Amino acid sequence: MPREQPALHALATAPSETELRATITALVGFGTRHTLSDTRSDTRGIGAARRWVKTRFEAISRDCGGCLEIVTPSQVFSGKRIPQPTEVMDVVAIKRGSTDPQRVIVITGHLDSRVSDVMNASSDAPGANDDASGVAALIEAARLLSKQDNRATLVFAALSGEEQGLYGGKVLADYAVAHGWQVEAELNNDIVGNSRGQNGVIDNTVVRVFSEGTKSNETPAQAAYRRYHGGEVDSPSRNLARTMAALADQYMPDFRVRMVYRTDRYARGGDQVPFLEAGYPAVRVTEAHEDYTRQHQDLRTQDGVRYGDTIDGIDFRYLARVTALDAITMAALSRAPAPPTGVDVHGALATDTTLDWRTVPGAAGYRVHWRDTTAPQWQHARAVGDVGHAVLQDVVIDDWFFGVSSVSADGYESPVVFPGYAGSFERSPAAKPGH
Ligand SMILES: [Zn+2]
Repeated sequence: MPREQPALHALATAPSETELRATITALVGFGTRHTLSDTRSDTRGIGAARRWVKTRFEAISRDCGGCLEIVTPSQVFSGKRIPQPTEVMDVVAIKRGSTDPQRVIVITGHLDSRVSDVMNASSDAPGANDDASGVAALIEAARLLSKQDNRATLVFAALSGEEQGLYGGKVLADYAVAHGWQVEAELNNDIVGNSRGQNGVIDNTVVRVFSEGTKSNETPAQAAYRRYHGGEVDSPSRNLARTMAALADQYMPDFRVRMVYRTDRYARGGDQVPFLEAGYPAVRVTEAHEDYTRQHQDLRTQDGVRYGDTIDGIDFRYLARVTALDAITMAALSRAPAPPTGVDVHGALATDTTLDWRTVPGAAGYRVHWRDTTAPQWQHARAVGDVGHAVLQDVVIDDWFFGVSSVSADGYESPVVFPGYAGSFERSPAAKPGH
């Protein structure tokens, strides 16, 4: 168990329902935030909504002595759901890390909204839950974390173009690559504010975290190696999900992560996907029980059922808890050292298992982890000191999955890194013989 961090306990109850409500109320007030809607009006459409988010980031930055840089990366796209070339713009606040500014922890939500017809850019599309809830979470995380120290850089991003084809996620992933960001985690918050499922089940104690099992961008040779030696359930995104689940268990009484071993919900997608395609670890955070009568619907009553994504469907207590999990995760990861690199494991035909890795700046020590090959969460751990090599006596390599984490002097721990390319958090890990 990593050391108790009072600062993380404090974040568990810090998110303000009042702040979250104010954000969603303001965003719903722009009528529609469709990607193809008006950009010039100050009261309606995606342009007004983007400028409002920028104003919020500027206000948060004023309160922390100018700690946020605000950028608006954009690209012009046309496509199946964008008939005319249209500028897709993200609104992004960056809080540089104090010691490791090149390491980056990202949270995203999408600003754009839609009704039943994905091309309808004029009808009211309140998008209170999809995805003003995610934008509210990331703005509140920015407010809370702006006052605290972060060693790695924190990025808070309100994306556009999600409903037209994940364009805003691509804009930010491209921006990250172009700026040489070492993204260690992307937490995509999309549909995080409703605790009542369409079938009537009510539960405000669980959030789902979706993670891919194997890397989107592995080569056929890497896939063949991984298929034989393991790693099919240990991508960095998956071990990021495990970190979030462990943080929820440690710091959030009566709230837990339900890990889902999938990139996204069945046959659906989100803005974490362009990050995965760029080779970055990323997960999707989504409420446990969705109500489809409230997603992508024209506002109407039909056969006694009210359709539409209106603010009365938001459970602000629940949204505050999801926001707390985001803030705890970002704080914990940004204070931990980088995950170890070059992790390798040996031990065939021996009763001991040996792990090697390259040490990382800022680490005071390392922990070696192992678990049963069918266990969802790491089960055993041993602190091994400030070294790049450890031998686990009488632990047979055949019977377990292994990993290594780095730990700071004040006890913040990185995610666990599974050996080889399959588990590496590096975007382009150095090739190793046999991997
Ligand atoms: Zn969405």
